[in-house]
Amino acid sequence: MTAPDGWLFDITESGDGRSVVLWVKDRGTERVRRTAVEYRPPFWVTGPRADLERLARRLAALPVVESVSLGSGRPSLFDRRPHPVLSVTPTVHPGRRALARTVDALGGYATFTLYDVDLSPPQLYHLAHGLYPFAPVVGRGEALHATEPAETIEYAAPPIRLAPLEVRLVGERRGRIPPPDGRIGSVRVGDVTLDGPEEDLLRALVGELARSDPDLLLTQGGDSFDLPWLYRRARACGLSSSEFVLGREAVGFGPTRPARSFESYGRVLYRSATFPLPGRFHIDRENSFLYDDAEVAGLIDAARLSRLSLQTVVRQSPGTCFTAMEMAHALELGAHIPWKKNRPEGFRRADHLVAADRGGVIFLPPVGVQDQIDEFDFASLYPHIMVRKNLSAETLECRCCPRSPIRAPGLGYRSCTRRVGLIPRTLAPLLARRLAYKAALKRPGIAVGEAEGLRRRVRMLKWILVTAFGYQGYRNARFGRIECHEAINAYARDLLAALLPAAEAAGYSVVHGIVDSLWLRPVDVRDPPDPEAFARRMSNQFDLPLGYEGRYRWIVFLPAVTHGLGVPNRYYGLYDDGEFKLRGIGGRRHDTTVLVRRFESEVLALFRTARDADGVRALLPRALARADRFAERVRAGEWPVDELLVSHRVGQAPEAFVTFTDSVAALRQLSDAGASRGAGEVVRFVLLDRRSRSFRRRVRVAELLDGDERYDVDAYLELLARDAETLLAPFGVDRASLLARWNVREAPARSPYRSTEVRAQSAFDPVRPSQDSLLASGPVGRE
Ligand SMILES: [Zn+2]
Repeated sequence: MTAPDGWLFDITESGDGRSVVLWVKDRGTERVRRTAVEYRPPFWVTGPRADLERLARRLAALPVVESVSLGSGRPSLFDRRPHPVLSVTPTVHPGRRALARTVDALGGYATFTLYDVDLSPPQLYHLAHGLYPFAPVVGRGEALHATEPAETIEYAAPPIRLAPLEVRLVGERRGRIPPPDGRIGSVRVGDVTLDGPEEDLLRALVGELARSDPDLLLTQGGDSFDLPWLYRRARACGLSSSEFVLGREAVGFGPTRPARSFESYGRVLYRSATFPLPGRFHIDRENSFLYDDAEVAGLIDAARLSRLSLQTVVRQSPGTCFTAMEMAHALELGAHIPWKKNRPEGFRRADHLVAADRGGVIFLPPVGVQDQIDEFDFASLYPHIMVRKNLSAETLECRCCPRSPIRAPGLGYRSCTRRVGLIPRTLAPLLARRLAYKAALKRPGIAVGEAEGLRRRVRMLKWILVTAFGYQGYRNARFGRIECHEAINAYARDLLAALLPAAEAAGYSVVHGIVDSLWLRPVDVRDPPDPEAFARRMSNQFDLPLGYEGRYRWIVFLPAVTHGLGVPNRYYGLYDDGEFKLRGIGGRRHDTTVLVRRFESEVLALFRTARDADGVRALLPRALARADRFAERVRAGEWPVDELLVSHRVGQAPEAFVTFTDSVAALRQLSDAGASRGAGEVVRFVLLDRRSRSFRRRVRVAELLDGDERYDVDAYLELLARDAETLLAPFGVDRASLLARWNVREAPARSPYRSTEVRAQSAFDPVRPSQDSLLASGPVGRE
């Protein structure tokens, strides 16, 4: 391999709309060089030849069109024969979509099919030139070449200079609602803290950035606070956009993308505005789904494979990365990317996707505590099935293989035997990569830093692989097809159906089984089967990698909240090696209060001492005593309020609420303080008086918390009781009896939100309890 001259860090669009900018870090100087290269990629249009000829004549006359040319090609993966294709080049990039919409309209939204419309010029430039983010490169400008392919498994991490950035206002604590004219008192960048008069400070920041020249700024809330505030104050101090440069190129002070709420898979989400820093990356940990798991090493790997800028990867979902990887493979096959006009935006956590898609729950666990349980897991089962069975939209029910022997069990869908589908093509290298990294992690003497980087890559790949399956079932996925999804499920169910008798034959009884995991108990616990040998045998027999996860000293299977029967994936247990595995209990959720998390870890610390199921049962009285002690402290009013913050994601626009809930009160309180929140954003608050109809007295939002508030004792006892029930229900502990034991009144029922009254209410108005809450009032109060 040639030693690289440097690394291609990023490609951005240039301000002139006709070029892209290549940002290359020089190996010798360690500085990043900016090179603009003219590049105007076309998009493609197919349709009847006569219509395309007419279209070409009309477009040629338009000033927004640089050029049109009629040729032929096979832009769709489904195309077997070449078609006439019109390639259309817009004069400037920003006009691309508008021009595509015009073409679509000229064809009456039916005559033409368009391709490559919504790929960005940087993405297309990468693909057209064999480049990718963080490629080691030689040469420069248009003659830049990568010295290794993007898919290279073992590569040296590129040298990235990372600096944390944090802005503090004069006299303000971070996390409070900043006053509209709040001046910046200090800025920390890297190891340096700058302070002094505001204008000097801002100029010093630009100087410090030029001196230390970080590649990546890391913030906590930078999209919503640090960056917009820096630009706001720069403008207030009269600095121009050429004087106040935070990236490596001067740009305007506004965001490239405004903040917005959007719906995704039925959930309302929110994304802060994006402020560009061309040539430099910015990661806002609060605005990135992937950063916590993948960190920089995982994100770099995803950027390489997807050909998306790190700046894009960090803000998007693993699904977006997977789709971009599919696009790269499609273009490599000579196909083009169909235009998705109603392209799905956003994501939901991939583990939700999988849970929702686990159509094939086979064996519900018995509620209660068990011991001597062996757990087995198929690693990346679904992606493996997609690869083995060649499942892809264009290879399912193909016309070339009417006699294909690969048929989905029970459904009969055939898979192509002549060509490899786009999805297997995309997935196979990802699976190989994940295995290779996992194997490398086991190498003796591997350096700590290297191992950590590999673990981050493995985690990133896991997210991408998990999402790949979820996307197959999603109607709007670009290359998805619902029959694929059905076929995958059918193969998986079939596999498990064969696996269960094999497990029984090996001397196990099945306790719980979901499609890709099994919990088995030896029939004879004094002479149990060898779990490792069983896993190896099954892997060979079914040609899929079944792994032994470990033996549980004990495991508690939890009931469903609704029907009380066992449910998949709600349990907690202790492995033989002393490690816990927790699924579906409160502390795992982000909205849980610290109070509840503390209680859970106390109970778990107690149960850690149990050797088996009887040991856990014997500890129950002590667990209840812990719960009582927590309840006493809560009742005494001495719990620190910052450990009582409840988080809630706002499901709809604040004005759309019809009932007066805690969240509505929090939203009103925020907007009263000059900080409005939109649908999809998270509000955090302490419950002060859940019976109050006053938005000021019902809750206190985190941003306004003083620390000496009196919280609603009953409300928190109820949260505690609910969590104790979650953990201990299998032992007969229920919420109602805990609440009775702690003398708690029932919560008031929800009542309609009569907006005019509530809005007119001031803190001095008398509280108007609803009929429901009057009826619900019990004899015991906080006093
Ligand atoms: Zn075929």
